[in-house]
Amino acid sequence: MEQITYFGASPYTIDKLHLFDGVTDPAVGTLLEQCAIQRISNGEALPNMHGSVACVYVVLRGALGNTLLADDTQQVRNDKILPGESIGELSVLDEAVHANALMALEETDLLVIPSRTLWKLIDEVDGVARNLLRQLSFRLRAANAQLRRREKVGEFYRQLSMLDGLTGLYNRAWLNDKLAELVEEAHHAGRPLSLIMIDLDYFKKFNDQYGHQMGDHALRVAAGVLNAALRPSDFAVRYGGEELTVILPDSNATTGRMVAQRLCERMREAVVFEDMHVPLPHLTASFGIATLDAQHDQEDLVTRADAALYRAKEAGRNQISA
Ligand code: GH3
Ligand code: MG
Ligand code: MG
Repeated sequence: MEQITYFGASPYTIDKLHLFDGVTDPAVGTLLEQCAIQRISNGEALPNMHGSVACVYVVLRGALGNTLLADDTQQVRNDKILPGESIGELSVLDEAVHANALMALEETDLLVIPSRTLWKLIDEVDGVARNLLRQLSFRLRAANAQLRRREKVGEFYRQLSMLDGLTGLYNRAWLNDKLAELVEEAHHAGRPLSLIMIDLDYFKKFNDQYGHQMGDHALRVAAGVLNAALRPSDFAVRYGGEELTVILPDSNATTGRMVAQRLCERMREAVVFEDMHVPLPHLTASFGIATLDAQHDQEDLVTRADAALYRAKEAGRNQISA
């Protein structure tokens, strides 16, 4: 990096510098006269040449790349700062040096306005404060838009990570996250909550007989049975493998049993093969129901539903047990 000259002795004028848009006050010339012009060659980084003293850099010629390393994502965001534009205003205003890594994208001339001079410009020259404010508000808006985009993407991935890829039902991670919350809410509001543990019957045999792909298809059909039969306020989860779980907020033991009975019948009637030339396979499942008691937490609830499911299996499958 070389320091070629002072602004007053250079061929540059304030004409195309956004910070001085609409500014005609000759005081600007006087104040900028002693400001340095720095030339940076292509690819060269801009060191903090004024130590910890904040200053504004105005690009006179060339281009700067502003590489911000976003702390959370480690994603690099590139901003290009073109002739007339400036950077570093914020560090002057809040007196902190920000961690921007600036690099010349081609040979670049910069006007360096030290903090003290910028404050004088703000105080003494009409229009500079207004231009600064406008520039900062644009930047803020862009940063907000980027933040919103990033939040949306984050939410999308979060949702995705909570859903089972095969069936589209909520997955085990969701259940681990959410069940405690739902149980807590039910306790707090003094409302009932029932949980149904479901396991497809003889599913290993189904796979052996019709193939794994048809097994996957049957799992999707089973998920569809749940989705079609439940209220919007209920939750259907793929607990793992061929085990599914249904959470019924606001439902006591009687309702829980009724819903399980309905699901059991619909599962039995579900059409797995659209092709009628293939003999209809039976898709049945066993259901274990547990209803939340005041003294129970979510683990007790799952344990009791599991125990009930075991009883339904023992009793011959294709049925419910509470
Ligand atoms: P039971 O009536 O006692 O539940 O018998 P089962 O054969 O269903 O029980 P088991 O737990 O022995 O076998 C479960 C089978 O489910 C074995 C496994 O191949 C199958 N399975 C688990 N997850 C998937 C899956 O994602 N796709 C397919 N196609 N099969 C799966
Ligand atoms: Mg199983
Ligand atoms: Mg099974």
